[in-house]
Amino acid sequence: MSKKKEDVRFGKFGTVSFTKTTRVNDFIDHLENGKVMYTHCNTCGTDFFPPRADCGGCLSSGMAWREVTGAGKLVSYSKLEYAPVGFDADLPYSIALLDYGEYQVFGRLDSDLDMAAVKIGMPMTTVVNELPNGQLNFVFKIAK
Ligand SMILES: [Zn+2]
Repeated sequence: MSKKKEDVRFGKFGTVSFTKTTRVNDFIDHLENGKVMYTHCNTCGTDFFPPRADCGGCLSSGMAWREVTGAGKLVSYSKLEYAPVGFDADLPYSIALLDYGEYQVFGRLDSDLDMAAVKIGMPMTTVVNELPNGQLNFVFKIAK
């Protein structure tokens, strides 16, 4: 009998990954392929970001991966001067929420953004980002 190898792909997410094993580890494979993905329930049509393996609405496990494409609307952002342990080296950074209509994406503004140009309601895109330590996350950029 072969011992099943632990699926620890989620350990590659973010400055500090809080979870290495989840049922949505494919999220990391998609990031490595340059895609930020959410899940869509094939039964009731609800969209989830962060992606979920099961639908919170109808309890179905019939979920499909879909790519976060196009622009979302900047709902809110906040510049952090203090951060949780492990994120200190990333300071200062800004957390933000984009509204894509059927789902919302919570993440960070690109650290290279001209903050004077950032306005609530503006269209922004979600793109994969590689951190200096080789970890992956995603950031928001101003839509062109
Ligand atoms: Zn559902």
